[in-house]
Amino acid sequence: MIRNVYCVGRNYKLHAEELGNDVPSEPMIFLKPSHAVVKADGQTLIMPADKGEIHYEAELVIRIGRAYEKGMAVQELVDTAALGIDFTLRDVQNILKKKGHPWTAAKGFQSSAPVTSYFALPDQEQLESKDFTLLLNGDEVQRGNVKNMIFSLQKIVDYIAENYGLGEGDLIFTGTPEGVGPVKTGDKLELAWDGEILGSCVIGTRES
Ligand code: MG
Repeated sequence: MIRNVYCVGRNYKLHAEELGNDVPSEPMIFLKPSHAVVKADGQTLIMPADKGEIHYEAELVIRIGRAYEKGMAVQELVDTAALGIDFTLRDVQNILKKKGHPWTAAKGFQSSAPVTSYFALPDQEQLESKDFTLLLNGDEVQRGNVKNMIFSLQKIVDYIAENYGLGEGDLIFTGTPEGVGPVKTGDKLELAWDGEILGSCVIGTRES
C-alpha cells in the first residue's frame, strides 16, 4: 500500500544548474498523488498529449517501512529502495513557476511516477559504491550516485518527518541527477542499478 509520495526537487547541484535554478539551502519537497505511481514492468504508459515537452527524471526511490521516531537512522526506517522516474511536463512547469502556482499540473498526472521492482536498501558505503542509470532507447542519458546529493537520505527523511510526517508505505523520490530531457511516443526507458536493469516502460499516447 502506497501512502504519501514525497519528492525532492533540486537535490543534485548539476541538475539544479541545468534548469537554471538556484541550489537550495534546505530540502525542497513536493508531492505527487499516489495515483501517479505505476509499475515500471515494461508496460506502455499513457502520457498527456498536447501539453508540451515531457521530461524524464530518473531517481532513487526509498520506501518507508515503519513509523518514524526521532533519531532513527535512515537504514532502520527504510525497508526497500527502487528506481523511479519523476515524469515532468516541463513547459507546463515553467509556466507554473512564473505564476508562482503549485506544481501539481506538471508533476502529478497519472502514470507520472513509474517505479521498478524493489531491492533492500544497502548501507551508505554500499550505496555510494554503485551508480543508477537511465537508458533511453538503449543509450545512457542519466547517471546518478547518492554521494552527489545535496541533502543526504538521512537529512531528507528527518526533514520530511519533522515537517510533514513519515510512516509505513510512504515513498520518497530523492531527486534527479543532470541529463534530464524530453521523451516522445514509442521511446523505451530502462532503469538500472549498478548496471542491472530493474524495470522499464514505454511512452504511449492515447488514441483519439
Ligand atoms: Mg524530480
